[in-house]
Amino acid sequence: MSHETSALTINRVSKQFSTPEGGVVRALDNVSLEVAEGSFTVLLGPSGCGKTTLLRCIAGLEAADSGEISLRGQRIDDVPVWKRRVNTVFQSYALFPHLTVAQNIAFGLQMDGLSKTQIAPRVEEALAMVRLDGLGGRRPSQLSGGQQQRVALARALAKEPEVLLLDEPLSALDLKLRRGMQSELKRLQRETSLTFVLVTHDQEEAMAMADTVAVFDAGRIAQVGEPRDVYLRPRTRFVADFIGEANVLPAEVMDAGVRVGSIGDVGLDVISGIDGQPPGTRGHVAFRPENINWERTPNGDAHVLDVTFVGGDLHIVAEVGEDTITIRASSHHEEPPRTGDHLDLSFPAGSVRWVED
Ligand code: ADP
Ligand code: MG
Repeated sequence: MSHETSALTINRVSKQFSTPEGGVVRALDNVSLEVAEGSFTVLLGPSGCGKTTLLRCIAGLEAADSGEISLRGQRIDDVPVWKRRVNTVFQSYALFPHLTVAQNIAFGLQMDGLSKTQIAPRVEEALAMVRLDGLGGRRPSQLSGGQQQRVALARALAKEPEVLLLDEPLSALDLKLRRGMQSELKRLQRETSLTFVLVTHDQEEAMAMADTVAVFDAGRIAQVGEPRDVYLRPRTRFVADFIGEANVLPAEVMDAGVRVGSIGDVGLDVISGIDGQPPGTRGHVAFRPENINWERTPNGDAHVLDVTFVGGDLHIVAEVGEDTITIRASSHHEEPPRTGDHLDLSFPAGSVRWVED
């Protein structure tokens, strides 16, 4: 399992659609992405940002307007769908209702011209991988939603693709099942060492599964990286806001620090990602609710508007001048802030991040 070679290379791919109203939608705008061999890569973004369009271009279900797509270094743009060593698992499981589970899995292998003796063990193996041993004789209607999703997965895995594409595969499942399937998918990916490219709009799901996450913003990739890195070092305002919770405030670079909204001047030691921005530059900064030091003082600038208990955390909404920010503190704190309190705020070194618009 090497992460050095590229399983899939997307190079400057663009795709636009005409709308029935006579307009044009840029579903993909010059998208480039390297997907490492054996990685679990997640494409994350809100609905309508182009995720499915990119998967469809990779699978060959859609032709890009421009750009190149390569699988293990070979251009596949002109390779027909059925010859691409790529398989897709869709949100709708798309199983054949009149075929048994085993027949559903075998179907694609028969189309590929494999013999019965070749197919039988592959079907067994795929069923075992998704933990459906013994259920090969059932019809899809005799299975739960989660089990049907596993059949769809087994069917794709049995084809031994070079890259497995998964388009919101868990979104039809309820929360508890979804959590279980997230770790199942993680396990499957580890055990098979296959390259998985999964699409989701759910940032928690992305963070739980990805070793690499690519954040989409309106047809473009805003940032690619390890989940932790993207969380700690969001490059843009959109990424900071979309992943986890963030306070985003207008900011201006001053001679000795940065003026942050109504909070005032913050020293350069506290700001990260600001390299080379000259005084006078205006933009935004982002900081995480859990990364704020607070102290109760009668003349503190932050005025507590609301405090709610959320499990082990206190969510504190406070007003600072014209800005409203969220602070997270531990519920175990001996004297937690209360509504009406005044707080003095300070920030740990590097915790306030300069973000692009
Ligand atoms: P996502 O999967 O991130 O929700 P999509 O890739 O499905 O987003 O869609 C991206 C944009 O392209 C959306 O604005 C969508 O309405 C538009 N779009 C997708 N497919 C078509 C199509 N066949 N015709 C017209 N517009 C489309
Ligand atoms: Mg989609």
